[in-house]
Amino acid sequence: MADQRVVIIGSGPAGLTAALYAARANLKPLLIEGLDAGGQLMLTTMVENWPGYRDGILGPDLMVEMRAQALRFGTDVVEGNVTSVDLGQRALSLVLDSTRRVTTDALIVATGASARWLDIGSDRKLSGHGVSTCATCDGYFFRGKPIAVIGGGDSAIEEAIFLTKFASRVTVVHRRDALRASKIMRDKAFANPKIEFVWDSEVVEIKDVGRGEVTGIIVRNVKTGQLRDVPLDGVFIAIGHTPNTAVFTGQLELDGSGYIVTRHGTRTSVPGVFAAGDVQDHVYRQAVTAAGSGCMAAIDAERYLEGMPEHAEATGAPRSVEAHPPR
Ligand code: NAP
Repeated sequence: MADQRVVIIGSGPAGLTAALYAARANLKPLLIEGLDAGGQLMLTTMVENWPGYRDGILGPDLMVEMRAQALRFGTDVVEGNVTSVDLGQRALSLVLDSTRRVTTDALIVATGASARWLDIGSDRKLSGHGVSTCATCDGYFFRGKPIAVIGGGDSAIEEAIFLTKFASRVTVVHRRDALRASKIMRDKAFANPKIEFVWDSEVVEIKDVGRGEVTGIIVRNVKTGQLRDVPLDGVFIAIGHTPNTAVFTGQLELDGSGYIVTRHGTRTSVPGVFAAGDVQDHVYRQAVTAAGSGCMAAIDAERYLEGMPEHAEATGAPRSVEAHPPR
């Protein structure tokens, strides 16, 4: 007999929506918050595309509301991080902070994705001191100053365009000579007089004056090997995200980029384990789609639990239920 009927890992829009629905289905879910409680929206300022708020809502305020709503219906929230899992047994087993073991009949993984770093040393060292992965959070600090955005995808170009509201100049550094971003984004960026491009180049160093004050970057042309100094005051890194799935390696089917593979809604490769939000979605990556998939995961988990033999015995329902029936 497992300790819990449903455990949810992650407290972003996907996890909290899953908790809301599971709690309202009387499953008394346990939600494990994870290291970055509230997820990526905690790093955002105004969210203007969450339906129902015509004037927008601050990301952290939205997460406070979502958490309170999940608690109101009986979600049990614990702080902490899942450090290992054993999903090979019928009672799925998790270890919290390498100490507390929890077993559960169903598990919803909503651990999200984290911004990628260049891993040149100086980028992480200067994080929060002139280097950022969140334009909406930190753009305001660079009013009237020259900055760089690293990357060539939709995120990088969206951030570059957004940052022109504050910065005197935005230099986009991209490792190839063509943007990955969609045409509409590209066209907007090319038409923006404040944006310039450094093509075929990678950042080899972010320079600072030792007080965490960024003074420039050194870029290397990948075709010629030539080094170039670009003086500026801030660096925004927008080179994609990495799904937070390290703990599930070897336990759940992951795709080539490490995202959890889901089929027939939110079902993973292990019966009773469901995944929602950015941890299984590298395409849409929106708060509202994460929340939607959290709702789906809770409903999928509820249906799965209804089909479990213990439940069938208690209710007289048929015992033989396929764990992952196709829709
Ligand atoms: P992405 O599409 O994976 O683009 C990442 C960019 O960073 C690529 O240009 C890549 O270069 C570059 N890059 C990756 N690793 C690098 C490294 N180590 N050093 C230097 N450059 C590196 O990621 P994304 O832009 O975050 O977008 C993710 C998804 O969200 C996409 O599907 C995107 O369409 C979507 N999205 C949509 C919107 C929108 O529609 N408003 C906004 C944001 C994101 P290469 O091109 O050479 O691979």
